[in-house]
Amino acid sequence: MEEISIDDKTTEEEPVIKKAKCVGEERKVPRLEDRLNGILCCAVCLDLPSTQIFQCSFGHLMCASCYTHLLADARLKDEGATCPNCRCDISKTACCRNLAVEKAISELPDDCPHCGQKFSRSELDHHVRSTCADRPVECKYSQLGCSWCGPWHELEVHVSECPHPKKSGEDILPALQLIERDKDQQIEVLNSIVRMLSYESVSFCDIQLRPFRSEDFLTKLFYESSRFTALEKQWVVKANVNDNQKYPERVINRRLCIQLVIKTKLTASLTIYYFLIPGPHSSVKTMKTDLRNFEFGPEAVETPFTELSLVDNAETNKLLAAKTINFRIVLIQVPK
Ligand SMILES: [Zn+2]
Ligand SMILES: [Zn+2]
Ligand SMILES: [Zn+2]
Ligand SMILES: [Zn+2]
Repeated sequence: MEEISIDDKTTEEEPVIKKAKCVGEERKVPRLEDRLNGILCCAVCLDLPSTQIFQCSFGHLMCASCYTHLLADARLKDEGATCPNCRCDISKTACCRNLAVEKAISELPDDCPHCGQKFSRSELDHHVRSTCADRPVECKYSQLGCSWCGPWHELEVHVSECPHPKKSGEDILPALQLIERDKDQQIEVLNSIVRMLSYESVSFCDIQLRPFRSEDFLTKLFYESSRFTALEKQWVVKANVNDNQKYPERVINRRLCIQLVIKTKLTASLTIYYFLIPGPHSSVKTMKTDLRNFEFGPEAVETPFTELSLVDNAETNKLLAAKTINFRIVLIQVPK
């Protein structure tokens, strides 16, 4: 009897042990890079930015953009800045850079947005711009009017079949004129900016747009900066994707539209020229300069939303992929 009972036990226990072993194997351990992401990310925006990283005296990490933002916020409120984690004082002298974290982040892998392959962050930019076989490129005859755009690995076949180089001078003239008109317009914009930089009241501010979701029935994604002071007035910049289109995630072409709002009560009208440039903390390096103007007044407190001219759709996605969008805004007051 005893022997049987022992046998019974072993036969009963065996499957239990096997099961436990299987569960142990199936339990997913987060990958090292995912665990490191959580450790090395900025304590404010939770992003892994490829900018300088600062730390408070207790070691809490902040990306350069959030760090300068905290310092600027504190200055606006006329208070001392504090670490958002431990509330210790932070300042240009109390914080230092953390080079080890900066280097560790540049070694962490990230996906190429075109081909999906993994690269270290330090190599990814070069891959995306110059070596990815799936990176979008234009036809080399685009200046002759060819509008083909496709992955790099299809370029050779397209170029061998492209009809544009065989067209006559007369046929390609309209395309050349269009390009020239575009260039002339840009030069005109830049010239007027240079002219206006001589005006008395010129201000700039590095802004950080943070994403929010409205609590309407259909939640909408929008971006807003915190208040900033320029030209002795308070301002906010708002942004939306594709004019608040219902499902921006379902369309390929994404446009970022920007609005400037004045928060100081005006008693008289105030004409402002404004434009955005990438600034020191932006993830985009170049963008077309669009000069906008608007007459603010007691009733006119916000400009319409206008599209930001980024170089291409990939640049827009790069901006949207980051937790915050950074720009420098320049405001110029037109003298009366
Ligand atoms: Zn940050
Ligand atoms: Zn801290
Ligand atoms: Zn790639
Ligand atoms: Zn072509």
